[in-house]
Amino acid sequence: MTKRIGIDLGGTKTEIILTHDDPLDIIHRKRVPTLQEKGYNHILQQLVELIKECLDLSDETPVIGVGIPGSISPETGLVRNANTTCLNGNPFKKDLERQIKLPVFMENDANCFALSEALLGAGRGHEIVLGLIMGTGMGGGVAKDRRVIQGRHGILGEFGHTSIDYNGRDCWCGAKGCLERYISGPAVEQQYVERCGTKLGLREIYERYQSKSDSIAMEVVEEFITFFGRGLANLITAFDPGIVVIGGGLSNIPLLYSKGADLARSQVFSDECTTPVVKNELGDSSGIFGAALLAGE
Ligand SMILES: [Zn+2]
Repeated sequence: MTKRIGIDLGGTKTEIILTHDDPLDIIHRKRVPTLQEKGYNHILQQLVELIKECLDLSDETPVIGVGIPGSISPETGLVRNANTTCLNGNPFKKDLERQIKLPVFMENDANCFALSEALLGAGRGHEIVLGLIMGTGMGGGVAKDRRVIQGRHGILGEFGHTSIDYNGRDCWCGAKGCLERYISGPAVEQQYVERCGTKLGLREIYERYQSKSDSIAMEVVEEFITFFGRGLANLITAFDPGIVVIGGGLSNIPLLYSKGADLARSQVFSDECTTPVVKNELGDSSGIFGAALLAGE
């Protein structure tokens, strides 16, 4: 029986857990602000301190897994695609290992989400689990046979930057029509403000949709669900998962699991599609449990 350290390095918060072999059996848990504006070395040192605290509390050497926003290039070992931008271009895994003198497993946070839901959450018992995180951005991961699939370039699951319209909306990544520009919180909010000039948060837009009190809100939410259905149909056709598990702030929108899922299933390239589309079971903690499991079961 091993002990585990799981770390979820987010843009605003960094969280660490020390657990028994079962990651849900937590010994110690701590959450601190990431303060990414202080730069790479601050984030690195903060993580070293948090890990040392856990090592002091553990009677054996734990396995260590870290979920990061972004991924590590298998070619160069450097972080890329992280919206905590100070991580980009740095050998974060290597630097961390050198300081704590222990091996570290490091993985994209959406992959950690897919892994934890596959092993401990809504995806239990399914051979292929497709996890989607929809919040300020959009990403995902695929777990197969209880492991994350990484792919040749370590980008498997970066669904947010697959285009569904080559003449579509501009994306920060340089491409046009990226899925993230249609089915994320900021995308919906931007559509609303562009159409009526009023800036509203996603929650309020959705409330207005539900109460049918605002025709622009209804239009924007309908459009969001349409794109969600189309995008998800593409992913189900590509991966044919046993289940799709949704995480992130937008996973609280019930319409995704009714109309959105129906739209997706009706457009899958199959005469019959029964793929369940469900909300995550582990909530905000999903990523950190997945990180704790990166070393294997
Ligand atoms: Zn993009």
